[in-house]
Amino acid sequence: MVRLRARLARSQNSLGRGLLTLLARERLDEDTWEEIEEILLTADVGPAPTVELVERLRERVRVLGTRSPEELRALLREELLAQLGTDLDREVRTEGGVSPEGEERPAVILVVGVNGTGKTTTTGKLARVLVAEGHSVVLGAADTFRAAAADQLQTWGERVGARTVRGPEGGDPASVAFDAVKEGITQGADVVLVDTAGRLHTKSGLMDELGKVKRVVEKHGPVGEVLLVLDATTGQNGLTQAKVFAQVVDVTGIALTKLDGTAKGGIVVAVQRELGVPVKLVGLGEGADDLAPFDPEAFVDALLA
Ligand code: GDP
Repeated sequence: MVRLRARLARSQNSLGRGLLTLLARERLDEDTWEEIEEILLTADVGPAPTVELVERLRERVRVLGTRSPEELRALLREELLAQLGTDLDREVRTEGGVSPEGEERPAVILVVGVNGTGKTTTTGKLARVLVAEGHSVVLGAADTFRAAAADQLQTWGERVGARTVRGPEGGDPASVAFDAVKEGITQGADVVLVDTAGRLHTKSGLMDELGKVKRVVEKHGPVGEVLLVLDATTGQNGLTQAKVFAQVVDVTGIALTKLDGTAKGGIVVAVQRELGVPVKLVGLGEGADDLAPFDPEAFVDALLA
């Protein structure tokens, strides 16, 4: 996986630069704090985390009487990290289990999200990472509404050496997902990654279907991870989508894609705070290697570089 800090530092990131410039001002007056708030909001940090962050920073500056740019940077770093949470479990879960029939069963990862967010690409990239780590992987192409999605996934599968289970176009996604896990059990695979459909224009249908996919897959035993893919460039809209998904399936982790395409890195803070679900992976490009585990410290250091 790519090194997060180096890659983010290379991508345009106005958040840190703007903040550090403001904090270096001679006087931290009311206008300056407002400008700091403005920058955080523009970077998609979200209203509640922004207000909280600025209040805490102001209070600490007041109490400590801190003035040097280095000290202010350190405080800002701490507060950003506090917003992100440093003690969350950000590992993608790959522990298998035992099926109701008593067979060894692979870990199941459902990948959900709205079309276009990078779901299939992220599934493929994650398969590649897992295979490189020594896991055997089966892919399930449960996005049966978009023939291209199954082809795209199969191409990833061929590239990384993972079998792709797919169904007829327009077939039942839950049955493909079920079959993929069954294939995983038969093969003795370690992980089954299931790519699901994400057509937003039929929202209630989509959500019903997603709930069904999860229920049907769970006939083989509990799903270990539901990874919600969000596109960082959609900003606060992405958050609204995320809340809808979280109501239907127990989202256990977020993969935030296209961070390379936005200067609004603050969305990571908003997503984390609003959903209370850890950001586990970030997408930093279209290439096969452009997926990184989310490391809050490296992320904040890149923002403030
Ligand atoms: P899906 O409809 O959610 O399955 O989306 P796809 O996986 O087909 O991805 C949609 C587009 O986003 C494709 O052109 C991908 O190459 C692109 N994409 C996915 N992840 C990233 C990322 O992290 N960065 C960039 N720049 N593009 C990405």
